Amino acid sequence: MTTQTLQPEAQAASLPLPLPIVSHWIDGRPIEVLPEQTGPVFNPATGEVIARVPRGGAAEVDAAVQAARRAFPAWRDLPLIARSQIFFAYRELVWQHRQELAELISRDHGKTYPDALTEVLRGLETVEYACGLPMALAGINTPNVSTNVDAHTLRQPLGVAAGITPFNFPVMVPMWIYPIALACGNTFVWKPSSHTPGATQLQAELWKAAGLPDGVFNVVYGGREAVTAILEHPGINAIQFVGSTAVGRYVSETGRKHGKRVGAYTGAKNAMLVLPDADMEMVADAAVAAGYGSAGERCMAQTLVLAVGDAGDRIRPLIEARIAGLRIGPGMEPETDMGPVYSAEHRSSIIEWIDRGVAEGAELITDGRPFRHATNPDGYYLGVTLFDQVTPDMAIYQEEIFGPVLGIVRVDTYAEGVALINAHKYGNGTSIFTTNGGAARRFEMEADVPMIGVNVPIPVPAGYLSFGGTRDSAFADLQMRGEDSVRFFTKQKEVTIRWPEPGKQGPLSLAFPSNS
Ligand code: NAD
Repeated sequence: MTTQTLQPEAQAASLPLPLPIVSHWIDGRPIEVLPEQTGPVFNPATGEVIARVPRGGAAEVDAAVQAARRAFPAWRDLPLIARSQIFFAYRELVWQHRQELAELISRDHGKTYPDALTEVLRGLETVEYACGLPMALAGINTPNVSTNVDAHTLRQPLGVAAGITPFNFPVMVPMWIYPIALACGNTFVWKPSSHTPGATQLQAELWKAAGLPDGVFNVVYGGREAVTAILEHPGINAIQFVGSTAVGRYVSETGRKHGKRVGAYTGAKNAMLVLPDADMEMVADAAVAAGYGSAGERCMAQTLVLAVGDAGDRIRPLIEARIAGLRIGPGMEPETDMGPVYSAEHRSSIIEWIDRGVAEGAELITDGRPFRHATNPDGYYLGVTLFDQVTPDMAIYQEEIFGPVLGIVRVDTYAEGVALINAHKYGNGTSIFTTNGGAARRFEMEADVPMIGVNVPIPVPAGYLSFGGTRDSAFADLQMRGEDSVRFFTKQKEVTIRWPEPGKQGPLSLAFPSNS
């Protein structure tokens, strides 16, 4: 396969371009493309096209993989401290550019600037974890497993790893993947979302500025064709995917069929369980933040409030009061609490979900559908929607809406609430709100969901811990990040070594080697 569809940078730059064109990043430099090979990038706050993004395919993926394969032996063999020093430099550069990254995120995603800044800092936690990877890569050393025999474990990189990431966290989620893949000695190909490419190129440029050798980190844009090329490419060894369940299932099945290690972390529908003894003011703050923050476009959003006993009647007016004060507008305006959703199509899909909830018989308390922003009528804004009397048979209970739609579900007992959480097809994160330590402890033990909060909404674990999902929220043998990701991005070898004492050679034996 050739790279002839790629245009040299100088040639593309001389074309009369009305809009900035985002570039692939291959072998340490931007690879620009002709305008006709691109699609639009929108500013959700205004509805305007603000850039163009390449529609890459098999040729671009192949060029990136070839660059990554060429770079692999030298990167693998670089002493761990030298590798780690590049990570420290990258960490410093991301910190210095955190505000710029946050602005870039807000511009094409729509989330508020403070939300975007927190995203960068939460991503940085995993970069910081990767700075210390020389220790995590240390294997087990077992002296004297037999007479004159010692054993040790090696953890070696796999080769080329790929990351395929969603629109909703264009910095944090990639930073949950590539730092560990690289720190383990792999080279990397990243396929970001084409909806939110703004902050991508800066990450590539910062790696170069940090001293990462060319070809170690590559970026290719594209849709299904590029993803399929990654899944089928013989030069790629491992893939971590984050995105919707339908695409994650495809990625997992196709990638595994082509012999790759795959971890796919996918969609969600998370619930908070509220016991009658909870601090209801705290619960109301948590429900509004977890349901409507980032316009509900988080895989850890909590969009179902399972209210036990009279908790529902007490929590509802408190949530309503908070909703009434929410300010909806462009993410970069300092007074904004909630920005637009990311695309016009997604806005239409959320409206259809609300229509469906009404048709299913849920009680619509606050209707976000009619909201229009006064000065940005073409932006992708929605007001917040609150339903009560949501029941488990409704599609708005079962399916991920990924928008600012919160539903209260009435349950009679703690046990009924936990049973609902465990029966849901998604299992990503969940929280309990209570002042009863015994109930909280029971919940930790009984909730069959990998990420659990106690009086904490959106319980995303710190960046050095693992992040996982179960049922339709992940197709993966290991969790993402932390120790699990070190395992994922390395192959393990057990080495058994004999150094006989001079002159003490044992007799010849054809028996199975014994360790006695
Ligand atoms: P998505 O599945 O549409 O896209 C994810 C990636 O797959 C993108 O890079 C995209 O370009 C690519 N893609 C899209 N359609 C494809 C197709 N038909 N074939 C091959 N590749 C395709 O997801 P999204 O809309 O960008 O992100 C939102 C989803 O991601 C939600 O479901 C959310 O819950 C999930 N998410 C999960 C986590 C987690 O950790 N579990 C974190 C963030 C987001």
